This record gives sequence, structure tokens and C-alpha cells, in this order.
Amino acid sequence: MRLPIYIPKLQGQRYSCHGCGSCCRDFTVQVTERDLQKLHEQGWKERLGQEYVVKFRGHSWLKQKEDGACVFLGDNGLCKVHAEFGLEAKPLACQFFPFMLSPNVRNTHVGISFACGSVVASKGAELESHRGDVRRMSELLPASAPIHVQLQGKLIASENEIATIESALDAWLCKKNITPAVRYQGLAWLITSLLQANLGNVRGEKLGQLLSTLTHAVEHELPLLDWSEPTPRAWKLLRQAVFTRIEDPKIGDLLKRGKVASVLSQWARSRKWAAGSGISPETTGFCSVDFVSFETTFGVFETPSPSIEAPKNTLTDSQSHDANAMDDLLQRWIRASILGGRAWGSGLYGLPIDQGLGLIMVNLLTALWLTRFHAAGRGAQYVSLLDLQVAVGRVDRTSGRAVWLATAGERLRVKWLSHSDSLRLLARALV
Ligand code: SF4
Repeated sequence: MRLPIYIPKLQGQRYSCHGCGSCCRDFTVQVTERDLQKLHEQGWKERLGQEYVVKFRGHSWLKQKEDGACVFLGDNGLCKVHAEFGLEAKPLACQFFPFMLSPNVRNTHVGISFACGSVVASKGAELESHRGDVRRMSELLPASAPIHVQLQGKLIASENEIATIESALDAWLCKKNITPAVRYQGLAWLITSLLQANLGNVRGEKLGQLLSTLTHAVEHELPLLDWSEPTPRAWKLLRQAVFTRIEDPKIGDLLKRGKVASVLSQWARSRKWAAGSGISPETTGFCSVDFVSFETTFGVFETPSPSIEAPKNTLTDSQSHDANAMDDLLQRWIRASILGGRAWGSGLYGLPIDQGLGLIMVNLLTALWLTRFHAAGRGAQYVSLLDLQVAVGRVDRTSGRAVWLATAGERLRVKWLSHSDSLRLLARALV
């Protein structure tokens, strides 16, 4: 039996493909046996005059050119398979992007990837208008047994409990008349509270009461909390979290270099990020900068002084420091992650709700950190909307996809950051 499709109501979130080709340059695409059969029948080996698939660690992937782009990306920036045979002839992963489907017990949640520039910029048609395509895609997925979501540990969450958590966090994220600083520090406090609570004692209606109490208390609580600086250890763990989200191993490079050299180089880069001193290692999409210059950039929502930034009318929209547009982007991103089923369960490595929310909060912090890092790379002291767009796109492309984010090490990092209250201290330092 096919599950009903649930497309979240995200006012202000739109998407249509504008054919920028960035997903074809950015992702390494895994293909299924069925994809391989289709591509074989289309005769691509003869058409391209070369192999188009590479085997790596027991799976098949679309080959990439020297510059990392998909072997099927034409010089005109368009997919050759799509141009020749149409959308449905492409591998499943390419057809689905940027939609991400997460089936659970009652329905299939439809998430969207903010690695797509049109999603980040909210350009195109309303999400609901894609229902037909999404329905067709969901029918291509193999039918599976109902997938339960855990609340905490092994406790299975009821549908009502999931809906209660979704709507409480969504209401907080959409709350009017609060500053972005309060919104994201408050979110960190709410998620920390859930991670620190024993949710086994607050099931059903009691969970609703707890969330209602927390969301009503948050604005009053924040000024009463201790707001010391994050510890050096918290910053170090955050930089390590950044590294795990921007690391971009390309299969071609891994095969060329060999396993030992690749592991050693990754280890060396990881140590440099953890140390956070000197010049940052080379990173796709970011300039290498002295870590010290990061310290001199202002928080994402700190207002630029007119004497430092260029006059506003010389900047394009995405280059300007537009706090409302930045708040809007962060709200859309986090809301789409939670309501689109990408914050726990089948959409996020099968994690229970509390741990999944912790990971989403670390994603948010790493994006805020990377926003400042991107601004530092262009020599600016204040961040722009463009810096934030790049950072969100970069972090979201690994969320739910990068297997290394599902390891025990990543879970321990989230646990330490929440139990030491560092999630909210870092949120304050970064906004
Ligand atoms: S990144 Fe988005 S807009 Fe660009 S080609 Fe891919 S789906 Fe289309």
C-alpha cells in the first residue's frame, strides 16, 4: 500500500528548477540497478565513447569529469540524458532532487534540499504544485514496512506526539515580534531542554503540556540564563562539526590517490580545523582565510556600520546585509527540515526525535559559523545574504546524506554540546 503524500505548508517557500546545473556539478550520484539498466538501453557508452559509471565500495556511481561535474552534463549546462530522453529517463536520484521523501508510519513527508539555489532563493512555483511529480516519484520507491519514529532512545513516538513537537517548534520559529537573536537562541534552549529531559516521563498529553510550558517560558527564561562565552572546547567541537559538513570527497580523487593517502590527507585537514589557528585548509566554495580573521567578523544579525560596508545602493540584493531576508531564509530552512521529515527518523539516519533535533541545531550553528567564514574570505567584516545562502546550501547538502554524520562520534558531539549548554552559548555568539 502506498502512503499518502504530506507536503508541508511552508508559506513563502517556492521552487522550480531553473536549470542552473549546480546539482550536476556538486553531487556524486549513486545509481540503482534499474538506473543502470535504463542507461545501458539508452546506449550511453557508445554515445559518450567512454564508461559513465564507476564502482566504489560496492556501489555504482555516475562518473565525474576532471572538474567534478557529472559525465552527463553537457557544455550547454544541461543534462544530456534529460535532453535526449526526458526527465523520467534519468537516474532516480536526479529525478527526485531537490525533493527528499521520508516515509514513516502514516505518510511520506516531502522535504526539500537547500543545496538547490532555487530553493534557497525561494524562486518558482508553490511546493503544492509539485504534488503530481512527487506522487510519481514516491511510486518509484520500493514499498517498505511502516517506519516508526523514536522519541528518545527506544521509545516509539505516537503520531500525536510527533505532530505536537512539529507544531510547537514551528510556532516558535514563526513567532512574530521577536528578534532573530531571540528566535535562534530560544530554539537552542528548547532543543537543549528536550535533549536533557527524560521524555519517558512525559508521554502523550504531558509532552504537549511540557512543550507549551517551554515555548511560553522561553522569552522570559532567556534573560535569566547564564550567558558566558562558549568554552574553547565548544568552539573546537563546532569547527570539527563544520569540517564534517564541508568535507567533499570526490570518488575520482579517492580512487586516484588511494585509500591510505586519502585518509591521511583527511586526517591532516581535520586536525587543522580542530586547531582553528593559521590558514584554513582548502575548501570547495570558500577562500582559505586566517582563522583570526573569522574572529573579527561580526555576528550574522549584527548591523553593519555605514562607514564600513559599501553604500547599500551599490550592492545587489544578495550581497546586502538584509536581516529580514536572512531571518526568512533560516526560518524556511529549519521549518522545512522539521516539517519535511528531515529532522529525525527515515529522513535523518533513523535518529530519535531528540537527537535529530540536536543535529539540526548543530547544522544551524555550523551554517552561522560558515556564513562569517565566507564573509571573512571576501575580506568583509559584516556578513551578507549571499554569505548565508552559500553556507546554508553547503551545510544542507550533507544533511541526511553524508554517512559520517550518522556515526557515534557525531552523536557524542551533539550530546556534549547540549549537556554543557554550549548549543545556546554558541547560538548567542554567532547571531
Ligand atoms: S540546483 Fe536546483 S535549479 Fe539548479 S539544476 Fe539543480 S534542481 Fe535545477
